[in-house]
Amino acid sequence: MKGKVLKSTGKWYIVELEDGSVVNCRIRGKIRLEGLSTTNPVAAGDGVIVTDEIDGEGNRTISSIEKRTNYIVRKSTNLSKQMQILAANVDRAYLVVTIKNPVTHLAFIDRFLVSAESFRIPTTILFNKIDLYDEEELEYAKALAFMYKEIGYETYLIHAEKPASIQFLKEEINGKQVMISGHSGVGKSTLVNGLDPSLQLRTGEISDVHLQGKHTTTFAEMHQLSSGGYIIDTPGIRAFGIIEIEKEHISHYFPEMRERLNQCKFHNCKHLNEPKCAVKAAVEAGEIYESRYQTYYQLMTEDSSEVYRKNEFA
Ligand code: GDP
Ligand code: ZN
Repeated sequence: MKGKVLKSTGKWYIVELEDGSVVNCRIRGKIRLEGLSTTNPVAAGDGVIVTDEIDGEGNRTISSIEKRTNYIVRKSTNLSKQMQILAANVDRAYLVVTIKNPVTHLAFIDRFLVSAESFRIPTTILFNKIDLYDEEELEYAKALAFMYKEIGYETYLIHAEKPASIQFLKEEINGKQVMISGHSGVGKSTLVNGLDPSLQLRTGEISDVHLQGKHTTTFAEMHQLSSGGYIIDTPGIRAFGIIEIEKEHISHYFPEMRERLNQCKFHNCKHLNEPKCAVKAAVEAGEIYESRYQTYYQLMTEDSSEVYRKNEFA
């Protein structure tokens, strides 16, 4: 029977079967993803086939995994080369940000978007807590929303505690499998609970970033919304690392740079100091935002272990 993996610990799996029942499963034999050495072969969001075979502890058996549309991986620890698959088949990421309480820096947003582009996950940015903003802050939030919209991302200003403000998300998520990300304290749990009060995720634990930052044993969990669709929550992992993106590919993950790359004089232009660089010209002409170019510059000039660290738990 077909099923969807709701949670994966690498040893056992919680799977929702097509008939709506939820069962514990184990994997029999080896299921491997080509070219990837992973600590968990199956992740939240995976489509799997479950057989009737039951072990002594009552676990059913996952016999195979369906082809993924995309997946998110990170290093399982900072030292090891093994990968952990966090989630699979993610139709869209919702990045929740706030301009205060807590502050989400633009560099963090940009790094998240680069990762999402590299995983081929379309992203919507939700500017939350607009009820807390004064006039000036609200103008700033609107300007940021406008900027990212211009670049090609969907953006919304929301008040997660207010049902009317988030109703549209129920319709968007219905029929999809989406991921929710953002710093600790920005309102992710509040948002998910608002979309489906029966979920009751814990809220208000602003300090958990330090507690969870070093953990490698937190697992993504997929929740079904009563209005339809699934939300993948990745506790302790508020962003994902940029894993093994070659420096020369980073510009491909900035949509506004991507469209200009073939206009540079040199085909291997890094858009740093080269003459006749279309990207730098666009920055100077105000067609590419300074803050975006700054993040690009940082990504290009820092060493990759630092890229990794900054993105993982920023
Ligand atoms: P998470 O860590 O991202 O899951 O954030 P939580 O959902 O736990 O929210 C952190 C704190 O922000 C809690 O005290 C929430 O009540 C509060 N909060 C969440 N959304 C909003 C909002 O839209 N407006 C205001 N004023 N507070 C909010
Ligand atoms: Zn260039």
